[in-house]
Amino acid sequence: MFTPAPRFRWPGGARCAVMLCFDVDGETTALEQDAKAACRVTTWSQCTYGPTVGVPRLLGLLDHLGVGATFFVPAYIARHHPQMTRAIIGSGHEIGAHGDIHERLYGLTREQEEAILQRSIEDLTEIAGKRPIGYRAPWFELNRWTPELLLKHGFDYCASGMGDDIPYQYANGMIEIPGQWMLEDWEQFAFNADPAWGSIPQNCASVYELWWREFEAMHRYGCCFVLTLHPWLSGRPSRVQLLERLIGDMQAKGDVWFAQGHEIAAWYRSQLSESDGVATRGTDDDFKIFKHA
Ligand SMILES: [Zn+2]
Repeated sequence: MFTPAPRFRWPGGARCAVMLCFDVDGETTALEQDAKAACRVTTWSQCTYGPTVGVPRLLGLLDHLGVGATFFVPAYIARHHPQMTRAIIGSGHEIGAHGDIHERLYGLTREQEEAILQRSIEDLTEIAGKRPIGYRAPWFELNRWTPELLLKHGFDYCASGMGDDIPYQYANGMIEIPGQWMLEDWEQFAFNADPAWGSIPQNCASVYELWWREFEAMHRYGCCFVLTLHPWLSGRPSRVQLLERLIGDMQAKGDVWFAQGHEIAAWYRSQLSESDGVATRGTDDDFKIFKHA
C-alpha cells in the first residue's frame, strides 16, 4: 500500500484533523417547516429531546474523553434553552451560528439573510456571553453572497461547503472548513412518520463502519474529518456509545488533532504565510501525469 503525501500540515505532526460538530437544531427541525409545529406534541417532543437530553449526555461524553467540539445553535434554540447554551460554553466548547429557526438560505434575499444573521449574532452573544465566529448554514447550503455577509459581520470561518476535504478559502478570503453528507447522522438515523423525515434508521454497527473507514482513509490522506451530528438523533443511548467507540478508536490510532472550528481556522490562517504549509488546489501538482509501468 502506498503512502500518499498528506494534503495539509497539521499541528504537532498530526496526520489529520478531526472537527466534531453538533448542530443543535432541536425544535427548529419542525418549526422551520410548520409555524404550528408545537401542536404536534409527539413530533415536538422528539425535537426537544436534543437540547434537553441529548446535549447534556453528549457533554458528559466529551468531558469523559477530553475532546472539544463545536456546537452550531440556531438563535431560537439559544433563546429557549439558555441554560443548555451556557453549559456548552461553560464546558469549554465553541458555539457557532446556525440561523434563527434554521431557515434555508436558498430562496432568501440577501437582505433577509443578513437580518437573520444579525439576529443570531445578537442572541448568541447575549445568551452565551461570547460572539460567534463560526457559521454553519442550515441544510449545508450557501448563497453566492453568504461569504461576503460572514466577512462583513466578523465571522472567522464557514463550515458549510463540500468542495474539498481540507479547509479552503472563498474569493473574499473567508475560510471554509468543509463537511460531506456521508459524515452526517441525519442520513443514517433520522426518522419521523408525519411529517415524513429520513428513512429507516441504520444500526450503529454499520454506521461505525461507514465513518471509521472514511476516517482511516482521511487519516492516510492527511485530511480534515468533519463529523456533523444532531443531538436529537445522536443523543440516543446506543448512538452515544457509537460515538464513544469512534472517538476512542481515533485517539488510540494516534496522530489526530481534535480541534474546534475556530482552532482549525486559526491554524489554516497561520499556514497561509508558510509556502509549503498549504495544499494548493487545481495546480500542476494535482494534475501531474502518473506513468503506469
Ligand atoms: Zn441544522
